[in-house]
Parts: sequence; structure tokens; C-alpha cells
Amino acid sequence: MAQYVLNKNQQPNGDYEVHNQSNGCDWLPAPDSQVPLGTHHTCHSAITEAKQQLPQYARVNGCVHCSPACHTT
Ligand SMILES: [Zn+2]
Repeated sequence: MAQYVLNKNQQPNGDYEVHNQSNGCDWLPAPDSQVPLGTHHTCHSAITEAKQQLPQYARVNGCVHCSPACHTT
């Protein structure tokens, strides 16, 4: 299980990125820009959680560095 967080700051391409905090990603957002998503077995369920918590964030994507399996755009 790993702890995942969402970056509240929209990326230049319009995505909101999900990061694996337990992985020590270098691209983690600043603490006040993080939305905790809880612990998940995979980034896929973390992204599902983010979409449920924050339906206004239509485009949620995995960080290419720490969650490449969920990086699609
Ligand atoms: Zn990351």
C-alpha cells in the first residue's frame, strides 16, 4: 500500500496529477497544494478516489515519475 496525494495546482496541459507520496517522488507538490487521497494498492484506485472526492477536477492523471502506469497524457 502506498499513500497518494493530488496536486491542486493544474498542470500546463490541464491535468491534475496524482503522486505516490510513499515513493518519495521529487515532483510532489508543496504541502498546502496536496490533497490526501489515502492509501491505495495501485495508482488506478487513487485516481478513482480523486475523481470521487473532487469531481470538478475533470482531468486527473498519474505523475510520469512516480505513477507511470497511470500516466496517459
Ligand atoms: Zn510524482
